Amino acid sequence: DQAPVQVPPVVSAALTVPLATGEQIQYANLDHAASAPCLSAVQDAVDELLPWYASVHRGAGFASQVSTKVYERARDVLRDFVGARTRDTVVFTRNSTDSLNLLARSLPKATAVVLFDTEHHAALLPWKGPWVRRVQTPASPGDAVIALDAALAAAPIGPRLVVITGASNVTGELWPIEELAAVARRHGARVALDAAQLAPHRPIDIRSWNVDYVVLSGHKLYAPFGAGVLIGRADWLQAAEPYLAGGGATKHVVSWGDRLGVAWSAVPERHEAGSPNVVGVHALAVACKTIAARWADIEAHEIALLHRLRTGLREVPGLTELSIFDGPRVGVVSFTIAGHDAGLIAAALSAEYGIGVRDGAFCAHIATRRLLTKAGSSEQRALRASIGLGTTTEHVDRLVHALRTLVTNGPALNYRLEDGRWVP
Ligand code: PMP
Repeated sequence: DQAPVQVPPVVSAALTVPLATGEQIQYANLDHAASAPCLSAVQDAVDELLPWYASVHRGAGFASQVSTKVYERARDVLRDFVGARTRDTVVFTRNSTDSLNLLARSLPKATAVVLFDTEHHAALLPWKGPWVRRVQTPASPGDAVIALDAALAAAPIGPRLVVITGASNVTGELWPIEELAAVARRHGARVALDAAQLAPHRPIDIRSWNVDYVVLSGHKLYAPFGAGVLIGRADWLQAAEPYLAGGGATKHVVSWGDRLGVAWSAVPERHEAGSPNVVGVHALAVACKTIAARWADIEAHEIALLHRLRTGLREVPGLTELSIFDGPRVGVVSFTIAGHDAGLIAAALSAEYGIGVRDGAFCAHIATRRLLTKAGSSEQRALRASIGLGTTTEHVDRLVHALRTLVTNGPALNYRLEDGRWVP
């Protein structure tokens, strides 16, 4: 074993959880792909801001000025984090789902939308319109480029948008972003990148990749819940009705009898009605800055642990990894174990070993079911282990040991199904 790489610490490093026996054990959180633990640097930054937070853009008081400055500075940090153009707008949202829905509501009339059908539901479902094409995801990145080319060749004349993911939340596999964006560009289409799963693992550079919009979520990037972002070209967002109507999104409101005259604000405020989440946005910005300063260590840590995890999983009898392309991936691995219920395994991992994994279809039902079938399983649910800055070699080794023991000897306890969940 090599010396572990030092990565930015998370606040939950020493967390212990009870086993079904009542004994306490260090928590092995192997569910970073759902939500990542908060960085210690983020906690410190939030602690520092809490006495100062006040209404953003709305007060003359000193604390309001501090909050407004912190909030506006965060836009520049996020712009740098994704390599955006200076003219791109940075709209703060609640999360990636919110960002993608905002973009979907802001498309020019009759925009043709093309995407792959293995997307997370947040990227799969928001698009409405006369021409939305959900292309069946092919078996290789090269075929994905060809399939996109064919779909765009059949798209009607007019505005076009291609929606792609950076890394699959089911398999962690990396998508050929630049190649897909180049095809989109040839067909006069804009590109929106769902970077919810990519952003915690790899640097993003939308300018050099020729991507027009990018979305991400703070809670997957080692900041708490409640802040996300949509970054990209301002014109469509500027021409659209505000996503939410209310204070902050308006410059003037006047009445004339019982009629109203409303002058909406320009972007980004146009789509940020209501009091902004300055604490969440600051946390997100600090997380981005902390990560961006340590990419080399973060990638080395992940590559070493992912290798250890996949090597160990290969030793578990009956285990098959799910894969779209059989290609390079970030630290996310989904799998099925022949003859074993994913929910029961996940429950036993938690109750008997203090390990948190995800079971189910990961808000990507089409992808998960298709990949299970491809893996020769008739199950509807898979297991997913995902690693990140909170992961240690001991967590990985514990998971591999636990799976081998559960598959070979069965669980040590009896389980019953309660509201769809197995409990000891
Ligand atoms: N896209 C991908 C690839 C994701 O993994 C997720 C979260 N699982 C989302 C979008 C949605 O993110 P959020 O729940 O933060 O809106």
